[in-house]
Amino acid sequence: MLKSHSCGELSLAEAGQVVRLAGWVHRRRDHGGLIFLDMRDRTGLVQVVVDPSAAESAYQSADALRNEWVVAITGEVQVRPAGTENPRIATGGIEIHASEVTVLNPSKTPPFYINEESDVDESLRLRYRYLDLRRERMAANLRLRHHVVKYIRDFLDGRGFLEVETPMLMKSTPEGARDYLVPSRVHPGHFYALPQSPQQLKQLLMVAGVERYFQIARCFRDEDQRADRQPEFTQLDLEMSFVDETDVLDLMEELYSGLAQATAPNMGVTSPFPRMTYEEAMRRFGSDKPDLRFGMEITDISSIVAESGVGVFTSALGEAGGTVRGIVAPGCAGYSRRELENLTEIVRGQGARGLATIGLDAEAGTAVSDLQSENVRSALARHLDIDTVRSIAEAMGAGAGDLLLIVAAHENIVSASLSALRTELGERLELADPNELAFAFVTEFPLFEAADDEGGLSSVHHPFTAPVPEDAGLLEESPTAVRSRAYDLVVNGLELGSGSIRIHDRELQDRIFALLGHSPEEIEDRFGHMLEAFEYGVPPHGGFAPGIDRTVMVLAGEPNIREVIPFPKTQSAQDLMMSAPSTVDEQQLVDLNLRLREAAQDIAASD
Ligand code: ASP
Repeated sequence: MLKSHSCGELSLAEAGQVVRLAGWVHRRRDHGGLIFLDMRDRTGLVQVVVDPSAAESAYQSADALRNEWVVAITGEVQVRPAGTENPRIATGGIEIHASEVTVLNPSKTPPFYINEESDVDESLRLRYRYLDLRRERMAANLRLRHHVVKYIRDFLDGRGFLEVETPMLMKSTPEGARDYLVPSRVHPGHFYALPQSPQQLKQLLMVAGVERYFQIARCFRDEDQRADRQPEFTQLDLEMSFVDETDVLDLMEELYSGLAQATAPNMGVTSPFPRMTYEEAMRRFGSDKPDLRFGMEITDISSIVAESGVGVFTSALGEAGGTVRGIVAPGCAGYSRRELENLTEIVRGQGARGLATIGLDAEAGTAVSDLQSENVRSALARHLDIDTVRSIAEAMGAGAGDLLLIVAAHENIVSASLSALRTELGERLELADPNELAFAFVTEFPLFEAADDEGGLSSVHHPFTAPVPEDAGLLEESPTAVRSRAYDLVVNGLELGSGSIRIHDRELQDRIFALLGHSPEEIEDRFGHMLEAFEYGVPPHGGFAPGIDRTVMVLAGEPNIREVIPFPKTQSAQDLMMSAPSTVDEQQLVDLNLRLREAAQDIAASD
């Protein structure tokens, strides 16, 4: 080894020892004839002092050094003179007095600072990702990711789970996104698909008698990118036999609360994790991934305003699925016209025609029953009698100084609008504690959603999800009313992952495929292997698949998953470091029996 010790691990205990270190020049300072180097390796920083009167040739070498050069240093560990200690670094009590300095490799000036946290253009960071990963923040994220995955592996191993690898070259699986395809050379005109998830294989592993499977699985989905999406991402994929929802959720809760405590000990974790049905989550928070770090729950005031004579309310209630609901923005009665217009824009973005606002502009402490007409700030004030305002305020739990935000429309629009307002106000009013992890499970998602206007259906989760048994009778006659045995794990307004108890009965699985509009030939072609397996003794089973990238992002307090993926792609699915995707040699296409269409040829030629 070129090194006897690591930079960041030295302490007063090594004082007096001669050590050999190797690493990068983090920073170099010239101080009246002495050269000070901060030297960095994967463990941290240590200060090196090069004194020409003690080591002339070491000084000559050190004089030429620049940031990010790779060097080896021999020197004695000494206690720093009193008053020169640096409490900001772990090795701040000592320094190395160099006797030898050897350049192992010089470096060009990096395109951005490695030794300080500055705002760097993300495409530059991705182009030079190997330099970006040298920065402490990114190095810490890499370490955290390692610890997260190790914790998960140890935890599941301790509970009898078997880690099983499944193939990357697979057949298309119906997770709802577009597949990445890989042409087969040996079978012209045939393609593998990269897995959107190992869903079918993990179910087949249950048929195989594995009972408890997991995998840190890479998944590929060719979707338009959003902030927390990547074309390839990693899931903790797991599946268990002979379980129901409670067993799976209990295990996940134990895993995630332990994981958070072990890897983000400064974050508070709610315990136990609340479990609520999809219907309850939508009713109380307007979202299937509510941020539970704050309240601001939705109140249904339809019955209060039904007779109010206020057109916007009564006309919404007259329509099928129409409802009137609201939330309270505490202390916001004095919002300016502009601020209110801004909130109105948010609900318009969700399809609402408008936002009804009522400011309760009275002195703090005024009881709701004492509110008078002159206290009501609202465009609707003329149409609303004071008794109705009092009843609304009371139902919503509002008081003097608060602002009531009310949306009247179809239930779906009302939920989406109030959820968006809740998120915005939560941020604006800083209601959510950034150091809290509010996990929750949302259960009983609908089994199907409308895929088009002609009665076509698609699975909300995926076609292998079992319906709630009591609802199975509704499958043909009222399919969108059927609840499923699917559940999500959410945290702080983010979906971490989904899972479900599966169908393990061939006949029911056939019925679901048929309801999804697959012809018998299609079913045979795409899922024949599953259905065949389902004739050979299938245990009841269910599983889960939380995203590892999102989990690490949340634990690291990072704003997007690219910060916790070592080599991520851009929003337009490119790898800027390796320049992928790229064109290929004509011969490679010939070997694969492929020919580019004209438009693609032109684009490729212009590259
Ligand atoms: N395969 C599913 C997904 O990727 C998760 C599951 O049902 O276990 O969403």
